[in-house]
Amino acid sequence: MSAPGMLDERESGRPSDIASVDRLLSAPAFAALIERHGRTPVTVALREHLTSLRHAALAGSLARSSLPEAVIAAAVEARLAETARAALRPVFNLTGTVLHTNLGRALLPEEAVRAVAQALTAPVNLEFDLDSGERGERDTIVEGLLCELTGAQAATVVNNNAAGVLLMLGALAARREVIVSRGELIEIGGSFRLPDIMRRAGAKLIEVGTTNRTHGYDYAQALSARTALLMKVHTSNYAISGFTSAVALPELVELGRGHGVPVAVDLGSGSLVDLTRWQLPAEPTVRDAVAAGADLVAFSADKLLGGPQAGLLVGRGDLIKRLRLDPLKRALRVSKLTLAALEAVLALYRAPELLPARLPTLRLLTRPPLEMRSQAARLRPLLERALGEAYEVTDTPMRSQIGSGALPVDELPSHGLAIRAARRTGASLERLEAALRALPRPVIGRLAEKTLWLDLRCLEAGDEAAFAAQIAMLNP
Ligand SMILES: *Cc1c(COP(=O)(O)O)cnc(C)c1O
Repeated sequence: MSAPGMLDERESGRPSDIASVDRLLSAPAFAALIERHGRTPVTVALREHLTSLRHAALAGSLARSSLPEAVIAAAVEARLAETARAALRPVFNLTGTVLHTNLGRALLPEEAVRAVAQALTAPVNLEFDLDSGERGERDTIVEGLLCELTGAQAATVVNNNAAGVLLMLGALAARREVIVSRGELIEIGGSFRLPDIMRRAGAKLIEVGTTNRTHGYDYAQALSARTALLMKVHTSNYAISGFTSAVALPELVELGRGHGVPVAVDLGSGSLVDLTRWQLPAEPTVRDAVAAGADLVAFSADKLLGGPQAGLLVGRGDLIKRLRLDPLKRALRVSKLTLAALEAVLALYRAPELLPARLPTLRLLTRPPLEMRSQAARLRPLLERALGEAYEVTDTPMRSQIGSGALPVDELPSHGLAIRAARRTGASLERLEAALRALPRPVIGRLAEKTLWLDLRCLEAGDEAAFAAQIAMLNP
């Protein structure tokens, strides 16, 4: 008996049967490859391929059918295609989490894509005042829109919300104290922890109250000449329920005003519009925080707002000016690509009633479950055919999440496919999950409770045919 892959001794090619690099490179089949990919990449890929053939020959498992020039050229071409494939690739997000941080959060509208393409290919007035012909400030590109949409006096933009909070604390509270409720000392995604950011910014955290209850007098007692800020943090990814008490923003603002201490809010996702008008769960709006008297509000541009990755800070003109003058601002500033995309997305907010049609994030969040249900009915037979007897596929209601820490408790009714391994077939859900990830456009689902869940909320109509074509190629 020979080992699997072993060939009969007379069948297996020997190392000496393999053509040399030089001979192959001058063969016609390779001339075309060199023309298309360049001599160096072709030579590197060819050497690698010949090494693998030599190893097979030594192991007695080299099929003679893999020796002709044309076959070697095809194998080298496949290697080149593999190398040329971008590391950052489109995937199908069937996790059920719309704003998935690991999958790039918000998808941007066409308007933003066009604006970015333009900013990439033509010079732009990034820091150039077209009225005076003098040097300008890049913040002004979106400051007007941000003030219009939030009611704030001034605005600035940095790389992300974590950077926004770092800048706020570093510029306004270094070597001084910041008072925060113990119920709001958040950790987001494992790497954003408020006490750590506070330390890095050189500010001293003064924790007040308890995990479940903090009162106005807790803040009042902690105020001193060293207090730089009173800070509220939106508890984005958890909810404290039961016997609880928190100090509302207006009360904190009153306390701050009485002592001449600014009140800053990390709103996390925040929203520029009231989401309940689309029957989505309530999320605090930036405008409400500004109207309640917050002196500074920090929030993300790529969470519920549906824009590019950025951190937005809006509030009192004098405070924003101090942020702008801080050297940290220069280190945390955003590129023209971000500003181009952000301006295009913010402009859509001027017509809020059109947002579900124009802004992908809102379109996905407001998709009627009936749509996902009919998709599931169409896709189930395809998946059953591709997977065979070894798996059971059911179409079933499920619950999507908004994600990125927004609205952690509420879930959105959705529909999708649930795949389970049939008994006694040796089928493995882990292997199927890996096969889906290995497709040309990887399919990312969610493995839980011995079930692979494919939530169809983020599979829009335009992508369904591409998804179906791939499922037919599946080889679990
Ligand atoms: C998400 C979040 C952050 C971090 O924002 P990024 O844009 O991811 O840097 C900070 N604070 C709160 C409350 C958040 O929800």
